[in-house]
Amino acid sequence: MSTAVYPGSFDPVTNGHIDIIRRASKMFDHLIIAVLKNNTKTPLFTIEERVRMIREVTEDIQNVEVESFDGLTIEYCRMKNAQFMVRGLRAVTDFEYELQIAQTNRVVAPDIDTIFLTTNLKYSYLSSSIVKEIASYNGDISFFVDSRVAERIHEKMRERQRINE
Ligand code: ADP
Repeated sequence: MSTAVYPGSFDPVTNGHIDIIRRASKMFDHLIIAVLKNNTKTPLFTIEERVRMIREVTEDIQNVEVESFDGLTIEYCRMKNAQFMVRGLRAVTDFEYELQIAQTNRVVAPDIDTIFLTTNLKYSYLSSSIVKEIASYNGDISFFVDSRVAERIHEKMRERQRINE
């Protein structure tokens, strides 16, 4: 059985991520979406909120599981007996960073291969940060995230505004 891990911050999950998840779920028997806990940036959503949102928007995909993890991604893959790690590539800027990580991981864990999926052109500019930025100015984010995720983001922004008032 082939198992792949798709790791990331997913703060929050965007349509770009969902596109990668749908495509990867057809390539492997089992796909684990692993939400990284030790985030250096201050996240908008807690780890539990991020996991819950991804579960919600992927509930129709049978072979997908969502978990949170802490520490080295490669160790997490080992623990899960995953042979593959999935990463999305948007632009050349992603490539340099991702290549460096993939090559390092290959030295540490030659048994785990990183598979890169290039983004759907529709979402090539899309990142969680851009979505948060637009939402902070009360802009329309309906094209970028699932409607349930959009609602949560707007809620968070309203909460923040109340705190700042
Ligand atoms: P990280 O902090 O690990 O970069 P992200 O949540 O930003 O976490 O991204 C997780 C993965 O999804 C990365 O491989 C990233 O390149 C990919 N990704 C992010 N946005 C998109 C998108 N719009 N299209 C395709 N892949 C994407």
